Amino acid sequence: MDTSLPSATSSIADRLCAVRRSMHAAALAAGRDPAEVTLVAVSKFHPLQSVQEALAAGQCVFGENRVQEAAVKFPPLRAANPDLRLHLIGGLQTNKARDAVRIADMIESLDRPALVDAIARAADAQGRLPDLLVEVNTGDEPQKFGVPKEEADAFIRLCQKQFGPSLRGLMCIPPAEQNPVPHFQLLRSMAQTHGLPVLSMGMSADFEQAIAHGATLVRVGSAIFGPRPTLA
Ligand SMILES: *Cc1c(COP(=O)(O)O)cnc(C)c1O
Repeated sequence: MDTSLPSATSSIADRLCAVRRSMHAAALAAGRDPAEVTLVAVSKFHPLQSVQEALAAGQCVFGENRVQEAAVKFPPLRAANPDLRLHLIGGLQTNKARDAVRIADMIESLDRPALVDAIARAADAQGRLPDLLVEVNTGDEPQKFGVPKEEADAFIRLCQKQFGPSLRGLMCIPPAEQNPVPHFQLLRSMAQTHGLPVLSMGMSADFEQAIAHGATLVRVGSAIFGPRPTLA
C-alpha cells in the first residue's frame, strides 16, 4: 500500500493524485472494484481558491461541515462545474435544514427525529430532496453528533419510512484515539441489516482501512488540502 503521501508543500493536484492512487490500491487489495469508492474532498475552512484547484485537478465531490460556509463557496461554482456534488458532513441544526436542502446533493448527518421532520418539510416546500445518510455515533461519545448505537435501528427505520430510497446509507466518525476498524465493521453490519448501499467512513488517517472494510465514500480533508486554517 502506498503510504508516501506528498508533503504539505506539494500541490493540491499532487496530493489528490496520491490519495486517489492509495484508494485504488486499497480497493484492489481488498478485492473490490476501485470504482465502488468515491472520494469526498473535505474543503471546510479552506478558501475557494483551494476548491478551484481541486476542481481543476478533476475532483468533483466536496464535503463541508458548515451550511453557511458551504452556501457561500459552492453555489457560484455550479454553473461552470455541472458535475460538482456537495456533501454536508457536519452536525446540522434544524434551523439550517432549509439551506441544507437547497444547496446539498447529500446530507450525511441525519441523527434525530426533529432533523428528519425539518428536512422533510424543507424538501416538500422546495420540491428537492438530497440523498441522505444516517450518522451513527458508533463510539457512543456524548460530545459527538450521530444517533446513539442502541437507537440506530429504530431511527434508520424511521428515516426509511420518511424518505424511502433517498436514505442511501450510513456514516460514522470513530473516536479519534481508538482503532477505527471495529467501528467500520459495526457500520457495515448495520447497513447490511437495513439493505443500505452507501457507507461513508474513513478520513485522512484511515481511509485505506475503511476501504478494506467496505467504505463506498471516504471523506478526506487534510491529506488533500493540507492542515486546516484555524478560524478567526
Ligand atoms: C473534517 C472532517 C473530515 C476530514 O478530516 P481529515 O482528517 O482532515 O481528512 C471527515 N469527516 C468529517 C465529518 C469531518 O468533519
